[in-house]
Amino acid sequence: MEANERFEIVTEATNDAIWDYDLVKDQLFWGKGFYTLFGYNPEEIKPSFELLLSLIHEEDREHIVSQVDKYMSDPRQKDWYEEYRFLKTDGSYAFVVDRAKFLRNTKGQVTRVIGAMTDITERKSFEKELLKLNESLKLHAHELETSNEQLEQFAFIASHDLQEPLRMITSFLDQLKRKYQDQFDDRALQYIHFATDGAKRMKQIILDLLEYSRAGRLTEQLEKVNLNSLLEDYQILRNRLITEKGVKINMGTLPVVETYKAPMLQTLHCLMDNAIKYTKEGVRPEVSVDSEDAGDFWKISIADNGIGIEPEFFEKIFVIFQRLHNREEYSGTGIGLSIAKKHIDSWGGKIWLESEPGKGSIFYFTIPKS
Ligand code: ADP
Repeated sequence: MEANERFEIVTEATNDAIWDYDLVKDQLFWGKGFYTLFGYNPEEIKPSFELLLSLIHEEDREHIVSQVDKYMSDPRQKDWYEEYRFLKTDGSYAFVVDRAKFLRNTKGQVTRVIGAMTDITERKSFEKELLKLNESLKLHAHELETSNEQLEQFAFIASHDLQEPLRMITSFLDQLKRKYQDQFDDRALQYIHFATDGAKRMKQIILDLLEYSRAGRLTEQLEKVNLNSLLEDYQILRNRLITEKGVKINMGTLPVVETYKAPMLQTLHCLMDNAIKYTKEGVRPEVSVDSEDAGDFWKISIADNGIGIEPEFFEKIFVIFQRLHNREEYSGTGIGLSIAKKHIDSWGGKIWLESEPGKGSIFYFTIPKS
């Protein structure tokens, strides 16, 4: 195969615009790529160095001309690499990468330059989009941070300011009861009891709100945590309840994970507490905890054979103060899962569930390995 032929085929295959400038004859050759990439038919136009320069975007031209001068005068310069905008026949500009070799005679004078232009317009616009996206992400993250801080401050102030009047209500109700007990009939005493109970619940809500606003801050250090040990500790802590309800706990092999210990502990406790709490009448409660290696993540599952949850509530239960039962049926304030979700979100994991009413639920959550 002729060298020239080989050259032409390669230029077609690489989809570059090849050029070859013979300075001795002052002849510039443009390959087929100038037609396919930019629309210039080499059979119709006569390429020249001046034409080439005139097609470079005026904002880039001066730099290119000065670079050419530098390469012409400095015998050490051989490998050329420049990015610029190049006018196409349709009037738009293509972003190109232009690579070339400067060949010199023994005196160091340039005799020939051979180069190739690659159209990187798509890559450039992709890069631009990415930069824009990055900027808006940064802005968004900043806004989130600010709104999180504000929320935290709000919760903190609200809880302190609310607790004071609440303490007053409770203490005056107490005094009312102590000092005037003899003058009150049963109904009046019951009213006082309801009012005290309401104040107590309000106090719990304030504390829960405060705790929720603080969850997910990840202020502590990452550490190696053995999930099996956490669960063993949990069983000791809840031993009485587990024995009373006759709960059977099946523990699979769980990993040692690098995580934030307190949030992880709270998350596991919440899911285990729920699995033990929402049990089905007449069925021996059984809770199975297991793990699965899911590539970049560990996937932990906590399965129970309890009352289950209707699919329409799968999202709702992760919202603060959302409960599916009243306090008389099952105790609780509806904060556990919302806090667990906030923790899991903050370490970049996910939480979800599968459940069948009357059969049981499986809660899943993930922990990134790094
Ligand atoms: P709490 O248990 O204090 O009500 P959570 O946020 O932990 O608050 O749970 C929200 C609701 O989700 C619960 O009130 C309950 O209705 C439902 N739930 C949570 N876990 C389970 C479970 N394992 N089985 C059945 N229902 C559950």
